[in-house]
Amino acid sequence: IYILAIESSCDDTAAAIIQDDKIIANGVSTQKIHQNYGGVVPEWASRKHQENIIPLLDHVMKLADIELSDLDAIAFTRGPGLLGSLIVGVSFAKSLALSLDIPIIEIHHMKAHVMAHFIEDPKPTFPFLCLTVSGGHTQIIKVKSHNDMKILGTTLDDAAGEAFDKAGKMMGLPYPAGPEIDRLAAKGNPVFDFPEPRIDGLDFSFSGLKTAFRYFLRDQTKLDPNFIENNKEDICASIQHKIVDILLNKVEKAVKQTGLKQVAIAGGVSANSGLRNALQERALTNHWTVFVPKFEYCTDNAAMIAISAYFKYLDNDFSDHSIGPEARLAW
Ligand code: ATP
Ligand code: FE
Repeated sequence: IYILAIESSCDDTAAAIIQDDKIIANGVSTQKIHQNYGGVVPEWASRKHQENIIPLLDHVMKLADIELSDLDAIAFTRGPGLLGSLIVGVSFAKSLALSLDIPIIEIHHMKAHVMAHFIEDPKPTFPFLCLTVSGGHTQIIKVKSHNDMKILGTTLDDAAGEAFDKAGKMMGLPYPAGPEIDRLAAKGNPVFDFPEPRIDGLDFSFSGLKTAFRYFLRDQTKLDPNFIENNKEDICASIQHKIVDILLNKVEKAVKQTGLKQVAIAGGVSANSGLRNALQERALTNHWTVFVPKFEYCTDNAAMIAISAYFKYLDNDFSDHSIGPEARLAW
């Protein structure tokens, strides 16, 4: 079975080809233009997807060394995401599938982030917990099977990735600030402390931390106009430490509640080395088995769409051509 997968939910155009459950081609064009604006500009994102998608298809077809006529199905991200971005991938996938007379498979972007764990070994066994932390979502999920996932907790306001990006923006770091904070934090120490939000259950909140961070920078800059410049590394280490702590405290609570000791992380923020290290430490103390995807499968990619599609293909779970993209696709 050969499946082509397309991902265009935000600002990365991605395509991958899977042969059964093995990824044989994986490509992504990252849109640089948004860096000039300090955030993703939806109109630019969708235009760039249109420019990128055909060259990207050619690229992965060459990598896979197969013909279009070899494809058995085409999968695409139906949502959630930016509507204008999704439209490009969905329309492209549908028209190519029509012309080849093969079925289409819709994929839920956030479930695909979880499914990134099934691309390579070691793979978790069902059921397990997954902390999905990305630019738009923060979720603790009980993964019962490939198509049965239950959200146990979610963010009430900002996502973890947003917390990184907004904190970085306040410090004058370029967008997306997450990776830059990670890099700087490695050279600093978490010497500044911020209050931890008190949220019941397994839900998260990051808006209080954002406000506390803003006032902290304002007050320190009043005392020393060069405070940020002179303490960049320690400030990054401190905010990263706090975000990671908030995340892992809830994971610990979820493990206690469910009794599940396999803990996976997914989504763009799972690329964060502070989170990865702290997760390993907690795993040692609490006897968890942890699963951390490869870097390229953490942020948006089409390999995770392809592996999700493979399981749907086995279930004969195809989509009708009447469906369209959904910016807020239901779980
Ligand atoms: P969603 O999946 O919710 O629709 P998205 O697709 O935009 O959102 P991802 O591509 O999964 O999100 O992740 C992007 C986010 O990950 C950004 O907020 C970025 O700052 C963050 N990120 C990426 N690498 C790191 C890192 N090393 N440390 C911290 N954050 C990071
Ligand atoms: Fe994503």
